[in-house]
Amino acid sequence: MARSRMGAAAIVLMILSMVGVVGCPAWFTSTAADVLVPVEEEVKLGEELATELERELTFSDDRELTTYVRQLGNTVLREVDNKPEGLDFQFHLVDDDEMINAFAIPGGGIYIFTGLIAAMDNEAELVAVIGHEIAHVTRRHIAQRLVAAYGTELIAQAALGEEPGVVGQLVRAVAQQGFMMSYSREQERDADRWGVRYQSDSGYDPNGFITFFEKLAEQPSPPVFLSTHPPPTERIENIQGHIDELDRPGTDLNVQRFEQMRGRI
Ligand SMILES: [Zn+2]
Repeated sequence: MARSRMGAAAIVLMILSMVGVVGCPAWFTSTAADVLVPVEEEVKLGEELATELERELTFSDDRELTTYVRQLGNTVLREVDNKPEGLDFQFHLVDDDEMINAFAIPGGGIYIFTGLIAAMDNEAELVAVIGHEIAHVTRRHIAQRLVAAYGTELIAQAALGEEPGVVGQLVRAVAQQGFMMSYSREQERDADRWGVRYQSDSGYDPNGFITFFEKLAEQPSPPVFLSTHPPPTERIENIQGHIDELDRPGTDLNVQRFEQMRGRI
């Protein structure tokens, strides 16, 4: 395993030096992520990170609400047809009513904050965010960011448990950003595009994406969920374009069930 990864690394580096590429263009990190951070390595790193996050975060003890979030996540996952083999999706509900936030970690751990649910009005809005976070994982944005930030060798060592300091470093970096990976604008756009598809394929009204962003844009200070993302107006425009391309958009909002669940927060 390690040998084939090193072989691939050598080949990529050789090609780069042959064509005289300087720096690290987007296509390189994208290719390198697929070749150099195999899914199983990303999953192992995610497990390390999840253990750290268990210490850092408080999880909801409301079993009904937690089950609800997990069921919604699995409903979306069933419709995802571009899932790389071996990812390990898990949905966690973080008990923090003040924080409008959600994030994904390597391997497929998705963390939804109770404050996010409290700020929403229907299930389609929640599924929009879940779909967006799933897309960051399936589209391998996380692997790409890891390669860009830490290099392949360090990631491999962290995944093998040879470099415990790296995991701590990652957790601190994630915590500093309000528990979010810092994605590029391109990656955010891509996650929105695929998120709309996942959400609509699961039967939900993709306009939930738009109503949620409109609500966030009205907040006096932008919530952490938006701080590293492109401006909401730009996202809304792009998302509307993706919705217009859908053949048969979903229609579910499930307002009543959602309000019942939100009432538990
Ligand atoms: Zn995002």
